[in-house]
Amino acid sequence: MSVESLFPRLEALLPKVQKPIQYVGGELNSTVKDWDESTVRWALMYPDAYEVGLPNQGVQILYEILNELPGTLAERTYAVWPDLEALMRSEGVPQFTVDGHRPVRAFDVLGISFATELGYTNMLTALDLAGIPLLAADRTDDDPIVLAGGHAAFNPEPVADFLDAAVLGDGEQIAIAISEVIREWKEEGSPGGRDELLMRLAESGGVYVPRFYDVTYHPDGRIQRVAPNRSGVPWRVQKHTVMDLDEWPYPKKPLVPLAETVHERFSVEIFRGCTRGCRFCQAGMITRPVRERSITTIGDMVEAGVRASGFNEVGLLSLSSADHSEIGGLAKGLADRYEGTNTSLSLPSTRVDAFNIDLANEFSRNGRRSGLTFAPEGGSERMRKVINKMVTEDDLIRTVTAAYSQGWRQVKLYFMCGLPTEEDADVLGIADLARKVIKAGREATGSRDVRCTVSIGGFVPKPHTPFQWAAQADHETVDRRLKALKDALRGDKEYGRAIGMRYHDGKPSIVEGLLSRGDRRVGAVIRAVWEDGGRFDGWSEHFSYQRWIDCAVKAGIDIDWYTTREREENEVLPWDHLDAGLDREWLWQDWQDAVNDVEVEDCRWTPCYDCGVCPTMGTEIQIGPTGKKLLPLTVV
Ligand code: SF4
Repeated sequence: MSVESLFPRLEALLPKVQKPIQYVGGELNSTVKDWDESTVRWALMYPDAYEVGLPNQGVQILYEILNELPGTLAERTYAVWPDLEALMRSEGVPQFTVDGHRPVRAFDVLGISFATELGYTNMLTALDLAGIPLLAADRTDDDPIVLAGGHAAFNPEPVADFLDAAVLGDGEQIAIAISEVIREWKEEGSPGGRDELLMRLAESGGVYVPRFYDVTYHPDGRIQRVAPNRSGVPWRVQKHTVMDLDEWPYPKKPLVPLAETVHERFSVEIFRGCTRGCRFCQAGMITRPVRERSITTIGDMVEAGVRASGFNEVGLLSLSSADHSEIGGLAKGLADRYEGTNTSLSLPSTRVDAFNIDLANEFSRNGRRSGLTFAPEGGSERMRKVINKMVTEDDLIRTVTAAYSQGWRQVKLYFMCGLPTEEDADVLGIADLARKVIKAGREATGSRDVRCTVSIGGFVPKPHTPFQWAAQADHETVDRRLKALKDALRGDKEYGRAIGMRYHDGKPSIVEGLLSRGDRRVGAVIRAVWEDGGRFDGWSEHFSYQRWIDCAVKAGIDIDWYTTREREENEVLPWDHLDAGLDREWLWQDWQDAVNDVEVEDCRWTPCYDCGVCPTMGTEIQIGPTGKKLLPLTVV
C-alpha cells in the first residue's frame, strides 16, 4: 500500500519554525527508494536535533547498508524542536522521515541509535508524534518494531517498557539479518503477528526482546533474578562484533548536510575497539577487541568519500586514533596527497605522547596550528592509577613542552571529576598540573604567549565497566571540588590568566547516572519527565534537574539508591543478562585493582590478561603491519 508524502502538510508549518531547512531532506547522497518495491522498511532515528544527529556515523553506515539491500529501504528521522512539535500536534502532522517525508508509523522498524541515555525523552516525543503507543505492550501489528542500538543499548532496561527490541554492538551484519527475518515473515503472510516476529528475532540469539524476560526483586529493592519467560529465548543475549572492517567500508557516500551541523567533515573509522583498559571508559570496554582497518582501505575510503561529498576536512576516527599500528605511514601518505589542496586532515586523538605531536604536525601542514588536546583524565598520579590511565606527570610535561616548542600555542587537557576514591586534593592536582604545563610552555618558547585550557567532565559509572559497582559522587561533592579548583586557578597571579577552565555542574551527571545504571523501574521516571515537558535533556538550556528530581519522587524512585550507592559483588545488575563478552569476575578483579592502584597493560602489546571477550565472542585482536602501502592514491 502506497504511503503519501507528508511534505505538503509539513511545508505549511516550516515558515513558522526555527531552522526549517533541517526538516526538508534532499541532502547530497541521501536516498529515497520506491516504497512499493521494498518489502522491509526501516526508519532510522538519532534522537537529537538534526544538527547533532546528521553526522552520526552509526546512522549513516546503517542507512547506506540497508539501502543497498534489494527489497529494503531506510530513511532517517530526527528529534524535532519544541516549536515544530507544538505545530505538528495542533495540525495533526505525525513524526516524519526527512528523506521521503513518510510517516514513521508506516515503517516496519523504527531503529533508534542511542549514543547517550539523554535521548530517552526525545524517543518518547517521536513515538507519541508518530502515533505509536509509548508502551511496547500496547502496540499492534500496525506499529513498527521499536529497536534500540548504540552504546546506551548495553543497558536498555530503563527504557525496556518502551522498546520492542535492542541489539548490542556493531550494527552492520545484524541489521541485514533482522531485515531478512522480517522479509521472510512478511512473505509468509506475517504469521502470528507481532508476537511471532519478535519471537523469531529473539530466537535468533542476536536480538534482545525485553518482554520475553521477567525481572523479580528482593524486598530491599535489589534485583533477584532476570529470567526468560518463554522457551527458546536465550538466557543471555550477546553483542555483535564485525571482524573484518575492510569488508564494510562505510560510509562510502557520506551525507552532506544542508543545515549547519556539529561536525562538517568526512569521518573514516580507522579501527574499532580499544584495549588500553581505562576503567571509566564504557566505549573501550564494550567495543573490544581492537580491529584495525587496513591502510589501503582507509586510503580508498578517504579518496572516494572526499570525491563523493566535497568535504574539505577528513577525520580519522577511533577511540584512540594514534594507536593504529600504521598511523605514521597513513598520516604521512594522506598529508602528502592533500598538501596544497583545500582538504585538511584531523585526528581526534588524545594520547599523551610526543608521537601524537608528530602526527599533529603532519596533519597541520595544510592548516593552522590552533590547539592540541590531551586527556590525562585524572589530576593526580594516584587518580590516574585508579582509572588505569597510564600517563605520568613527566610524560605530560615532556609532551606539552614538545608541542609548545614546535609552534603550538594552545593545549587543551581533559579531566574528570567525581572519580571513585577521589579526594579534594586529586582535583586540586589539576591546577598544579596546569601551572606546570604553562611554566614548561613559557620556558620552551621564551614567551608568555602560551595557553592551556582544562576541560572537566563529571564522571558517571557505566555498565560493563569495572566501575559498574562504584558509588557515584553526589553533585554537591563534585560542585564543591570544582569550585575549589576554580578558586585555586583564579587566585594564581603568576599562571592563572594563562589557564582557562571549562566545566559543567554535577547535576546532569546524576541524571545520566540514574539512566545509565537504572533498571526497568526507572522507566516510570522517564515517562513522567517526558509528560511534564522534558525534552532534549542533553542540552543545558532544556535540561531541568528539578523536574527529574520531582518526577523521581512522584514515581517512588530514590535517585541516590541508583547513583551514589556502591554495589556488592554478588548483586544482580540490571544488565547482567546482556553479554558484552567481558568476564564478570575479571571486571570485579579490575575494580579491586583500581581501589588498590594496580594498573593493567594494553593487551595489544602485552599478553592477554583474560578479560573474556575474545574466547566468549570468538574474536581476536587484529593489529599489525599489513605490508601494504597507502599508495596508489590519486595525485591531486
Ligand atoms: S580476551 Fe585477552 S586479548 Fe582479548 S581483549 Fe581481552 S585481554 Fe585482550
